[in-house]
Amino acid sequence: MNLSISFSGGKTSAYMTKWLLDNKLNDFDNVVITFANTGQELEETLEFVNRCDKEWNLGVVWLEALVDPVKGNGTKFRRVTFETASRNGEPFEEYIKKHGIPNQAFPKCTSELKLAPMRSYLRSLGWKNGTYKTAIGIRIDEMDRVSSNMEKENLIYPLIEYTKATKEMINLWWGRQSFNLNIMEHQGNCAWCWKKSKRKLLTLAVDTPEVFEFPMRMEDQYRFAGPWQDPSGVGRLFFRKNTSTKQLLEESKLPFERWKPAAVNFDLFNYELDSAGGCSESCEVY
Ligand code: SF4
Repeated sequence: MNLSISFSGGKTSAYMTKWLLDNKLNDFDNVVITFANTGQELEETLEFVNRCDKEWNLGVVWLEALVDPVKGNGTKFRRVTFETASRNGEPFEEYIKKHGIPNQAFPKCTSELKLAPMRSYLRSLGWKNGTYKTAIGIRIDEMDRVSSNMEKENLIYPLIEYTKATKEMINLWWGRQSFNLNIMEHQGNCAWCWKKSKRKLLTLAVDTPEVFEFPMRMEDQYRFAGPWQDPSGVGRLFFRKNTSTKQLLEESKLPFERWKPAAVNFDLFNYELDSAGGCSESCEVY
């Protein structure tokens, strides 16, 4: 049996990757570690993946989605490196041109930008479905993110099955390492990810409005792209309740309670501002 490790570029995923290599390498015939770049990660995330790769000798395979514009033709992969990886969202833009803007109703960006290139790459190695397992970095304190298809898809969750790692344990571990991911939790993944809570998005809009330039341009150029009909005439927008990037930036100018990196404060929790999708902390392929 082979093992595919899906490295999402976050601290939890990096910890899992290192733990697997230190503890489970002999359980598998071959191990492949992939990182799928969307072109909308922060530079710090790319540097972190590269640093993990170099420090731990991981042999990370950097992939990007190679979207085929022809209807019915699946997404393949392009191999890149830290140096050549997209920083301007090119893979994401190609995806949007074909499939339209992703949002809560059309949540396909993870599967097209991350899962599809990873699977395509593994197929190019001759790995057929059923001949490999895929390791996903979900912690025990986020068990609700485990896929209901884990057996069918041959998924393993080492941080739940073996290490029982929580966010606190992983942060403590990282505190003892010689390097770390130098961004805060709300900044990770695609910097402006539409799955983040509104409070995180508003905070980002105040601190780093430039990260919203890409989604704003996508809405301007492609809100009617993709194989769908728009009875409203508004087009497709990224954020909850059909909110546009421009509206979100405008809203961030009004007073609101900023997101803080504290443990969950249930007194402050507000359904409207703090609800988030599964990729809010890390964008995993399943
Ligand atoms: S981080 Fe968000 S926007 Fe980026 S691929 Fe994942 S779900 Fe989509």
